[in-house]
Amino acid sequence: MPKQTAPVKKNEIITLKFEDLTHEGNGVGKINGYPLFVPNALPDEEAKVKVVKVNKNFGFGKVLELISESPERVDPLCHVDCNGCGLQHMSYQLQLEMKQNQVKNAMKKVAHLEEVPIHPIIGMDDPLHYRNKVQIPVGEKDGELITGFYQKRSHRIMENTETCVTHNEVINEVVKAVRSIANRLGIKAYQEEKHTGVLRHIMVRTGHATDEIMVVLVTRTEKLPNQDVLIAELTEAFPNIKSIMQNVNEKRTNVILGKKTKLLWGEEYIYDRIGDLTFAISAKSFYQVNPVQTKTLYDKALEYAQIDSNDNVIDAYCGIGTISLFLAQQAKKVYGVEIVPEAISDAKKNAKLNGMTNAEFFVGEAEKIMPWWKAQGLDPDVIVVDPPRKGCDEELLKAMLDMQPKRIVYVSCNPSTLARDLRILEDGGFKTQEVQPVDMFPMTGHVECVTQLILKKD
Ligand code: SAH
Repeated sequence: MPKQTAPVKKNEIITLKFEDLTHEGNGVGKINGYPLFVPNALPDEEAKVKVVKVNKNFGFGKVLELISESPERVDPLCHVDCNGCGLQHMSYQLQLEMKQNQVKNAMKKVAHLEEVPIHPIIGMDDPLHYRNKVQIPVGEKDGELITGFYQKRSHRIMENTETCVTHNEVINEVVKAVRSIANRLGIKAYQEEKHTGVLRHIMVRTGHATDEIMVVLVTRTEKLPNQDVLIAELTEAFPNIKSIMQNVNEKRTNVILGKKTKLLWGEEYIYDRIGDLTFAISAKSFYQVNPVQTKTLYDKALEYAQIDSNDNVIDAYCGIGTISLFLAQQAKKVYGVEIVPEAISDAKKNAKLNGMTNAEFFVGEAEKIMPWWKAQGLDPDVIVVDPPRKGCDEELLKAMLDMQPKRIVYVSCNPSTLARDLRILEDGGFKTQEVQPVDMFPMTGHVECVTQLILKKD
């Protein structure tokens, strides 16, 4: 057994001064150099802390009492103990500083790119009610249907806590209405342990520029009792509802959506506009959740791409073709690739909708399609990537290095994997020019970045 080196023991109560924040927003205080991570503690604060977990090189604690308060501490607008919005106890300014530092640290420690300019993060004027999509679990209590978030680190639904300060306010109203109508109509809630009941999740999505609303009822069974009455009451209460879909998920799983999605009422899409472009969005497709900041993010990506009318461009991880069509306004031709077939059919529809004939879309794994394109002789001038949190696949990075585009624009929602991938691209002959962080997710620890790389000339 390795010798325990921690200077504290579990359950010990200590006084701790905090000096830093982790990227999840936990306070960091040190005892003889040994870091203790403590939720709800801010830099420059002092607190009486109970040690709750002791590992070899770091531990965790819980605030029992604050001895001194930071001027950056604010009263959280919401006290629900869910897994989201973990930064509500700090001023928005401090949230932004914390995210900026997160990017800076990743660039320094992981990418070893200390000299690259990181611009000040672009925050929101109003950092509340930005989310255009939510998925709320449905459960049962004393025979009544309830909706709400899972309690932190559990699968217990906290009764009727579905409203959140980050949600678009209409969404909160729609979820409450679905819950109350479904309850009155006797629609049974899904019960996870027994795998019985019907309604599992309520998903609601809105178009920011159009105010259109989509409701997706995720059910265990194909049959949705009293669906006609539910639809009639909902559409009467919310005339902006343009689409009601049912998604059937028969499996015992934490994955929210099942394979089959069918139209119950209205259209299969809602529409939104970003800049001059209109987008059709279907139930299963990824669409950025913060519409105000999306425009800022895409404008930056376009600026970094520096496209001219002779350029062939690849947009990898293209979703419903949003970035692709922005690029296609300036490029000769854009090739988009995305793994979700429904998103690609949205992308094709969106190209038509906007009268664009110079964008072509492919379903597949970007890491497989890119080498195939290379083998076909596709020689892109610019490549844009916007991968999920795990970053770019190695094969995809290799394909980019083989293709030698003039520029790469890397849109990332995870600074650690961004930094890891930038190191590989740097070693392969690209130079990181600049990084622009954008706050797409206020009140949470997440941060988005757009990065420009250029091919180094020998
Ligand atoms: N650029 C788009 C989507 C970004 S989100 C936008 O701004 O809206 C990342 C997208 O990558 C998702 O649509 C996801 O379905 C897709 N994806 C995940 N893994 C993939 C892979 N291996 N190959 C291609 N697409 C993938």
